[in-house]
Amino acid sequence: MKVVIAQMKHETNTYSPVPTPLSRFATGGGVPLEGDAARAAYKGTGSAIAALIDLAEAAGAEIVIPVAGNAWPSGLVEDAAYEYMAGRICAAVAQGCDAVLLDLHGAMVTQTFEDGEGELLRRLRAIDAKVPIGVALDMHTNFYPAIADNATAVAGYQTYPHIDMYETGARAGKSIFALLAGQARPAMAWGNRPMLPHVMRQGSDDSPNRELQARCKAMERDGALCASVFVGFPNADIHNAGLSAVVVTNGDAALARRWCDELLDMAWAKRQDFVYPIEPLAQSMQRAQALADAAQPGAGPIVLLDHSDNCASGGTMDTMTVLGAMLDAGLKDAAAFAIFDPQAVQQMIAAGVGAQVTLSLGGKLDMPAIGLTGQPRTVSGRVKLVCDGRYKNFGPMARGETNDMGPTAVLDTGAVEIVVISNHTEPHDLAAFVAVGIDPSRKKFLMLKSRVHWRAGLRPLAGGIVECAGTGVCTSDYAMLDFKHVRRPIYPVDAM
Ligand SMILES: [Zn+2]
Repeated sequence: MKVVIAQMKHETNTYSPVPTPLSRFATGGGVPLEGDAARAAYKGTGSAIAALIDLAEAAGAEIVIPVAGNAWPSGLVEDAAYEYMAGRICAAVAQGCDAVLLDLHGAMVTQTFEDGEGELLRRLRAIDAKVPIGVALDMHTNFYPAIADNATAVAGYQTYPHIDMYETGARAGKSIFALLAGQARPAMAWGNRPMLPHVMRQGSDDSPNRELQARCKAMERDGALCASVFVGFPNADIHNAGLSAVVVTNGDAALARRWCDELLDMAWAKRQDFVYPIEPLAQSMQRAQALADAAQPGAGPIVLLDHSDNCASGGTMDTMTVLGAMLDAGLKDAAAFAIFDPQAVQQMIAAGVGAQVTLSLGGKLDMPAIGLTGQPRTVSGRVKLVCDGRYKNFGPMARGETNDMGPTAVLDTGAVEIVVISNHTEPHDLAAFVAVGIDPSRKKFLMLKSRVHWRAGLRPLAGGIVECAGTGVCTSDYAMLDFKHVRRPIYPVDAM
């Protein structure tokens, strides 16, 4: 038996000015991993592709990995990058195989295609009309019909933060191996509702997504091969952005349809609970200080979430609004993770560890799609540390995977230790702080450019949480997104 396994993952924020060339899909630049190098890099990690590899090995299959590309979210995927990765997957399948197992995202938008995953699957189906195709997708999938039309079985993450990537790969893969063994006939139904759940209200510890995902798990206990609700990714101005569901049963198309509709009706009934009220930033700063003043000693830091500019949703990670408000408010004993500013890192490296420097920090990237220009801020401090920015996640999210922040420096203003990085990296793992010599549990305030993923590795530390509305292309304010391509009407942009 021969199985083609591939990864091609990107969540595209169509408002982001951050480019997405092929090198973004490769740790350390260049081209993405493939073959034995990809297998060695992902084997034993918490990724979906690791589960696909394990299942294929257990089946004694010959494994071909034409590409394993995974990029932090950013703007439109360059056509050349897409054609490289999709081309390699198609070429491998054209050589002939018994199954195709894919670790995709589900919200990839390229310069040419709104639905990068559907286009890949359409091409694969044109090459081989019969080969079973199993697909693992992110919960932030913006689902298109071409995915359901051309895949055999689809499974999505059931947790946000995403701590079940491996399990999702296993659910998608097992459906396909059961089919190959003559033990299952996957029947799939999908659908969507005209609603754009806000990312800040999508956590799977929070209602209503908690109940939606619990219902998916119950359906799987009751015999569904895979049941998934995709909360969708709203920072993408494309036709099918928003909430969807897909259910795969063993041979019962009517049941798949009924269960899928049940999930969609549940979500629609709770649509108001997916709306996010925005707190003014000045109020957030006051609240943070008050929480810190009232905290018991050792309670852990007050976490300030700069959720409008997190790179795991395509943010530039260089807006200074929230960090600037912290400095202006005089918050002390704080750490900030992180500001993306390769130029400032180089200035600090040139100055040397221990040097006093004054920098124009952040704000290097304009955001024309939301009508904002970059606003740097002059910051003075001591260069505390310089490092290469590489670390492996401790887990539970993307456990064991390598992160590469690029050249990294810590600037200590006396009030805030600011981590400054050269490659986009969202803080969701304690290892990110260990890599830069900061013990976040001992800080009074912790500013994170994150929405929900920080909870994976850092939530247990928090003594309090303040969600801070700064500026950025992950803005919580739908009015700033000025949707032109999303299907209308859609809740809550339109009254429904
Ligand atoms: Zn996601």
